[in-house]
Amino acid sequence: MKVLKLHTTNFSMPIVGLGTWQANSEETKRAVTSALDAGYRHIDTAFNYNNEDVIGDTLKAWLDKNSAKREELFITTKLPHIANRANDVEKFLKLSLQKLKLDYVDLYLIHVPFGFYYDEETLTPKKNENGEILLDLETDHISLWKAMESVMNKGLAKNIGLSNFNEAQIKKINQNCQMKPQVLQIECHAYLQQESIRELCAKENIAVVAYSPLGSPGARNHFMNKYNYELKNFPDILGHPIVTDIAARHNKSPGQIVLRFLVQNNVAVIPKSANLARIVQNIDLFEFELTVEEVNALKQLDQGSDGRIIDFYFWKGVEKHPCYPF
Ligand code: NAP
Repeated sequence: MKVLKLHTTNFSMPIVGLGTWQANSEETKRAVTSALDAGYRHIDTAFNYNNEDVIGDTLKAWLDKNSAKREELFITTKLPHIANRANDVEKFLKLSLQKLKLDYVDLYLIHVPFGFYYDEETLTPKKNENGEILLDLETDHISLWKAMESVMNKGLAKNIGLSNFNEAQIKKINQNCQMKPQVLQIECHAYLQQESIRELCAKENIAVVAYSPLGSPGARNHFMNKYNYELKNFPDILGHPIVTDIAARHNKSPGQIVLRFLVQNNVAVIPKSANLARIVQNIDLFEFELTVEEVNALKQLDQGSDGRIIDFYFWKGVEKHPCYPF
């Protein structure tokens, strides 16, 4: 498996990982086991996905069954929006570690740049009577990042990074830190290619991980079912004729083409699948190469910010937070 070397720590991050958002417990257990059996060593989860527990059990069972070592795996989890304040970082990382049954994670990310208040009992966002999330307007990235550095210094996270931060927010952290972020995880796919922020990351030695690399085909239903929220013009990247034509030419699936497009550009990908055949397909990206013409044709699909799927508007009122990034 090709890896990206993380700056400063020199850690190896497998360039393909398994995404685990939106899968139920049974699916997650099967998907993680199948992925590890198929050669995945990088698993992406988050406090907010409510699956760290089942992932922890599954990892433990797989490691025991295969007499494998913890160090062979690269596990990412994320500090939730409700915990975006310095004195919540260690508490929430420890909660995640407890559920994951791990002593450390390989990568801990600040999930989003904006913060919410939470209900102490349920650990979910507090809302007002209109159903709007109660925003914590005091979110302070500098003190938050210092707390991230502290959990890294304590060995609870081998690497630390950001997710969904914009360029100005990344620069501000870089100018005020001891340890630069090793990774930025952002929505990135053929319709939202993120060239400018990727250039910044290349300059600053930050590895980029693309989330929703297939265009998150399952998110449309998820938004409707969970939040009663509908994104206008939900994209069908895998059905675009340029993608399907290139796929036919290589005798590969459209999914493999859009993933190869990213990894060929040194962007890591974390496709989610709960389907064994697609799990196997999504890591089988290294025995073919897109030509320069094919890469250029795929580059033409970029729609800039119009291609964004995950704008977080499903959290009612989120755009009023001063750190809302888009
Ligand atoms: P995605 O990986 O782009 O798409 C997943 C969807 O595509 C699922 O519905 C899956 O269905 C289907 N699929 C998987 N492989 C396929 C293939 N080869 N051909 C056709 N369809 C395929 O979307 P995502 O889940 O939004 O993003 C991936 C991961 O990124 C997440 O799971 C999560 O770990 C992470 N993420 C992070 C953030 C963040 O804010 N940091 C936000 C979103 C996602 P089946 O399961 O039926 O195969």
